[in-house]
Amino acid sequence: MARYELVDIILPLERSEDEAARKKAICKKLHVKPERVHEFRLQKHSIDARKAQIKIQMRMEVGIDGPLPEYVKPEPNYTKLGGGEKQIVIVGCGPAGIFAALRCIELGMKPIIVERGKDASARRFDLGPIMKEGRVIEDSNYCFGEGGAGTYSDGKLYTRATKRGPVRDVYETLVAHGAPEQILTDAHPHVGSNLLPNVVKAMRQSILEAGGEVHFESKVVDFILSADNKQMRGVVLADGREITGEAVILATGHSARDIYQLLADKGILMEQKPFAVGMRIEHPQPLIDSIQYSYERGIERPRILPAARYRLATKIDDRGVHSFCMCPGGFIVPAATENDEVVVNGMSLARRDSPFANSGMVVTVEPEDTVQFQKEHGILAGIAYQKDLEIKASKAGGGVQKAPGQRVKDFIAGKLSDTLPKTSYFPGLTSARLDEILPHDVSYRMKIGLKKFGQQMKGYVGEEANLLGFETRTSSPLRIPRKDETLEHPEIEHFIPCGEGAGYAGGIVSAALDGVKCAEAAEAMIRK
Ligand code: FAD
Repeated sequence: MARYELVDIILPLERSEDEAARKKAICKKLHVKPERVHEFRLQKHSIDARKAQIKIQMRMEVGIDGPLPEYVKPEPNYTKLGGGEKQIVIVGCGPAGIFAALRCIELGMKPIIVERGKDASARRFDLGPIMKEGRVIEDSNYCFGEGGAGTYSDGKLYTRATKRGPVRDVYETLVAHGAPEQILTDAHPHVGSNLLPNVVKAMRQSILEAGGEVHFESKVVDFILSADNKQMRGVVLADGREITGEAVILATGHSARDIYQLLADKGILMEQKPFAVGMRIEHPQPLIDSIQYSYERGIERPRILPAARYRLATKIDDRGVHSFCMCPGGFIVPAATENDEVVVNGMSLARRDSPFANSGMVVTVEPEDTVQFQKEHGILAGIAYQKDLEIKASKAGGGVQKAPGQRVKDFIAGKLSDTLPKTSYFPGLTSARLDEILPHDVSYRMKIGLKKFGQQMKGYVGEEANLLGFETRTSSPLRIPRKDETLEHPEIEHFIPCGEGAGYAGGIVSAALDGVKCAEAAEAMIRK
């Protein structure tokens, strides 16, 4: 009788794409004769580069004595709303907002997205001024606009949030809207910034075709609350328009500082939470490849191997020091949202073929570390802490989005770099004492952490390693609390804080998952 099996096989890199070698490994693992293996298909794929001989681990779906169930490529499949549905206002068109809107449609509710930035095509043209002239367009940049901070990003789709929800559903939704099918099988899926804008545009199309609404250049400046301030009714836009609905899902990301200010001004409960700050570290990608794949420097990486990535973490005196959002074959980009600041982050294209590897290198900041800002800024102390560093980076860089830079070895030694290595950061660098500008608590831990990482990865803190300041937008310094069961704010009914800005996500996929969850909470609330 025909049967379906899932089997894990491991092959050396050189033979991993050879179908005969795959079949042989499957037969050996399942103890079946080759003629009984009717069909097999890759389900998951990962690289094991821990030893000198690189191995490829594959999970295979196998049809024994019969075919496999047919593979159906995911397609958008949203039933058109009939009109008269309950309206849900979604603030922010990032991954959280978009996935919340799609889920609203599936649940028979009408989503109305309001987004301060422009659609992904128009937004692209606003990245030119920041790169070439150092001029930030404050509502349209690397953080704001269609697709949120995820559109012009590194597009890594792996998440540690596997327990938070159906990650596979998120991948399938992305594939249905044009992301490469490979993300369904890669253990570390990635969609580059050249592909992401079309994916988010296609998702917008699905929302519109089903009867939802998406409004760009529609910045929320106020909330509409019931007379007793206990229920959220809608939002007020900068041009005076009012949008109302059964619930407001607030998915404005971690850079919407005016929204945190608005919440604070209205006395709406928020909590300080830990976040992390530091720098972007940049190396030549071939150096990282040679370290991670145990190659001699200069040997070309085989086509089948992706640009190597790494993850480093340690704890120094009760604070984490760790790499963050590592971008193999990527670029460092100016991710500021205002003109008086410099913020660095990383992005890449689908091929990840830039000659540079970059990563955030950050130290955890606990609420008590922001105490010097608390008197003046109260609950917004963490944001003031971030902003202070961003302004210092701008001043040290010399303006027009130039970033302050320092070689890693000089950072550790505490001296100014005479010269700086080549960088992917387009606005350019100015040599500066990052070790002095960073708060001492961050700086000394970073030095110890970097030395440790240099022992783990030979060459990591060598001559070619460079640091750029500052990486401040790793996550939100605030959490907007919500009730466990209903996800509503504990003090304001029908108000659902969502995604990274509210403190419930830390990346594209976890934000998308939270969006889905918030739409489901809105539906449960309406049903009650
Ligand atoms: P956001 O994506 O921040 O979306 C919030 C949206 O709300 C924005 O579009 C904003 O314009 C809008 N908004 C804000 N205020 C208002 C207002 N007042 N009115 C109306 N609209 C408003 N994560 C990964 O998982 N992998 C990566 O490779 C990766 N690379 C990144 C690279 C860069 C350069 C950056 C900046 C981020 C990267 N991230 C990455 C992080 C990821 O993009 C975020 O975690 C994710 O986008 C958060 O989703 P969100 O929907 O919660 O918020």
